[in-house]
Amino acid sequence: MSLNRLFWLISILLMLLFLTLIGRIVSSEWSVYKRSTKSMPAIGNLQLALLVEEKLAAERGPSNSMLTQGLDDAAEAFAALERARSASDQSLAALRHALQVQADPLRAPAQVLILAQVESTQQALAAARKEADLLLARQKPQRDLAAVGAAQEMMAHTVGVFAPAITILSGIAVQSDAQLSDGLQGAQLISSLRNIAGEIGSVFIAPVVARRPLSSQEIYAFSKLSGEIEQLYSVIELQLHTYHDNPAVEIALNTVRDQYLGAGLGFLNELFFIGRSTGDYGLSARDVTARYVPEMAAIPHLRDLVLAEMLKQAEYKNRQATYVLLAATCLGVIALGIFMLLMRVIRQRVLRPILDATDLFTSLAEERLSTAIPVSRHDDEIGAMMRAIHVLKAHSLAKVRLEQQREELIAQLQTLSDTDFLTGLLNRRAFFSQGEQQFGIAQRYRRQLVLILMDVDHFKAVNDRYGHPAGDLVLRGVADLCRRYCRKVDLLARYGGEEFVVLLPEIDLSQALAAAEKLRSAIDACHLQLDDGQIVNVTASFGVAAFDCEAVDCDKSLESLIERADQALYQAKHGGRNMVVASPQRKFDASFSLSDGPL
Ligand code: GH3
Ligand code: MG
Ligand code: MG
Repeated sequence: MSLNRLFWLISILLMLLFLTLIGRIVSSEWSVYKRSTKSMPAIGNLQLALLVEEKLAAERGPSNSMLTQGLDDAAEAFAALERARSASDQSLAALRHALQVQADPLRAPAQVLILAQVESTQQALAAARKEADLLLARQKPQRDLAAVGAAQEMMAHTVGVFAPAITILSGIAVQSDAQLSDGLQGAQLISSLRNIAGEIGSVFIAPVVARRPLSSQEIYAFSKLSGEIEQLYSVIELQLHTYHDNPAVEIALNTVRDQYLGAGLGFLNELFFIGRSTGDYGLSARDVTARYVPEMAAIPHLRDLVLAEMLKQAEYKNRQATYVLLAATCLGVIALGIFMLLMRVIRQRVLRPILDATDLFTSLAEERLSTAIPVSRHDDEIGAMMRAIHVLKAHSLAKVRLEQQREELIAQLQTLSDTDFLTGLLNRRAFFSQGEQQFGIAQRYRRQLVLILMDVDHFKAVNDRYGHPAGDLVLRGVADLCRRYCRKVDLLARYGGEEFVVLLPEIDLSQALAAAEKLRSAIDACHLQLDDGQIVNVTASFGVAAFDCEAVDCDKSLESLIERADQALYQAKHGGRNMVVASPQRKFDASFSLSDGPL
């Protein structure tokens, strides 16, 4: 796997891992946030509902006492009743308003149900009040006892009508956050304690008003309710164990025990003692209410404290979750940014230079030295590597340059070793080397090939007369003429001293003789000027031999061809010089077979 691909793979994996972690934190905190957001109004609603229950129960006090008493102090009694009724109505209206404001589409059926319960409670309350008002309109002696009982029963019934609303609201609160379960049950139990406390107090109203001993039914009711209160308090204490480290709740619990169970219930026990004997309580119903009801205040205080504590906890959770969500999101975004920046820096400052360096090393290894090497702007390890590559490139360039110089030197030496230093023509050694090849080709493919051997006439005399350097100059002049009269394909060389040789491929004897004749005539006509201005005229003799594969005495080697040309030259010298002589050759006859030829 390439480094680049590996880098991307690791980057993506790390990014996924990081996003998963952040996602887990955000999702868990989001659920805490949602739970606490839902639980806060749910607790508030339940608090309002418990208040409704309390107010409904409280309304029974003045209502019952007015029904069972005469109207001597009617104005004050009516005012108390109005206050109680108004408190009930306000608590119901507050609950209704809260439910309507917090319209939650997900809980719409439950809310409709609770609103229906509120509606039913209001109707039941209106009916009970109407019944009570009808009776209160009459003087006490004219009131039918059964009707009074029924009116009292109707008032008590309103609490029962409302009870399902509390159950539903409590369920919603527990659903929104299961951890609230203990506190909610505790609050409901405290509410029940408040109701029983109200009920047990009302047991004494009729006997106190009538100044009579308690009936057996009332004794039973008091004993039963008193037992229930003791039991309920113990359960509440257990239920609120989660709040034991909360001093406010602890104090409120102790107040309920001391104030209500101690003083309040103690007062009722005193009345119970009198009620079981003489029935001479020495108190009016109002006195009883005035002494007993304030002692009950500790109970709703405890309930409200527990609910307030739960609300505080829910708000705290909500706040914490909001902070964590915000912090996780911000940190996530910052960390993601840093991560991406880091990846970019690693890619730009480490990975890319390494990949570039790999390309550069490959280029250097393949001797592609024109590749540009980037200059690192950073004074780090990668920068040091780039500088080292620069040095390597310089070394490689120097090496290549040395090799080139060496090859040029070898080529120069080769040329020098093949060239005659005086005339610049090929020397004898180079002529044989290349001539052998030409001869081999002609022999193999039966091609035409002619050799001309040329010797400057009486050259010794030129040397003797003008001096050796002048002789050299004449030799260079003759060589230039030869060069001018030869074709590019012809192999021209200085054979030695004042002798020159030309090998002419793809040409027959007559054409070669014509070419030699032209050259002879050019040399003869040439006036060579020496450095001192003197003019020198020279002539040359030519011996020409053609390679003919069909001849009886066909040449077997280049030396043989030269030999025949030399013989012709010899004849030219003896014939008077300054002439061209061809070497004769025997032609093919019937007794000679081609297969005997040099193939
Ligand atoms: P011929 O017509 O029979 O060829 O007579 P020739 O004088 O040319 O022949 P010979 O062989 O007697 O003399 C050749 C002379 O060429 C002798 C030698 O000094 C001279 N020579 C050979 N090489 C060079 C050279 O490189 N420079 C000069 N200046 N002279 C050379
Ligand atoms: Mg000679
Ligand atoms: Mg000569």
